[in-house]
Amino acid sequence: MKLCFATNNPNKIKEVSQLLGEKFELLGLKDIGCHEELREDQSTLEGNAQQKAEYIFDNYNINCFADDTGLEVEALNSEPGVFSARYAGPQRSDQDNMSLLLSRLEGSPNRRARFRTVICAFINNQKHFFEGIAEGEIARRHNGDKGFGYDPIFIPKGYSQTFAQMSLEEKNNISHRSIAVKKLVEFLKTNS
Ligand code: IMP
Repeated sequence: MKLCFATNNPNKIKEVSQLLGEKFELLGLKDIGCHEELREDQSTLEGNAQQKAEYIFDNYNINCFADDTGLEVEALNSEPGVFSARYAGPQRSDQDNMSLLLSRLEGSPNRRARFRTVICAFINNQKHFFEGIAEGEIARRHNGDKGFGYDPIFIPKGYSQTFAQMSLEEKNNISHRSIAVKKLVEFLKTNS
């Protein structure tokens, strides 16, 4: 089955391809001829995921899905949440975002945080949502150079390394996105 993942992020395509297996041909936005930056200006992760998936479904008429992820930090009232990508400003810089988060948490003993991913999929004309959560804590400083985004400052529960210190396989075993994608894959296997 051909399936479009409405993203231009090659890291995400790589992560999800590994989870989907050979039965599915995963296409990125460029593969379907979409070269636009998709809008995501809703106030929730669910709203953003739906906005992106719906746009592709309406305009390209292909089975597709989109995700939106937020880092929810307990001591910051679940911020940055839906604003994770542009937390430190519209330049969407990972370094700036992490520095701002570390400075806002300075002195806070409560480092609890979680990544939450919401996937919205349009499969055979029907809309479905899938959620994945990875619990963990915010490190005191950056560690590791793998992965992307907030990976260098996120230590998943039960581990002492950040996501950025783990191999892709290790991260994929436990990550928020992989949990949501595994739910999507399970659904696809039983419904296609
Ligand atoms: P988006 O869902 O790709 O728009 O991601 C929102 C924000 O969360 C961006 O700043 C991403 O870099 C960050 N993000 C998304 N997924 C991950 C992840 O697996 N690890 C670390 N940061 C992530």
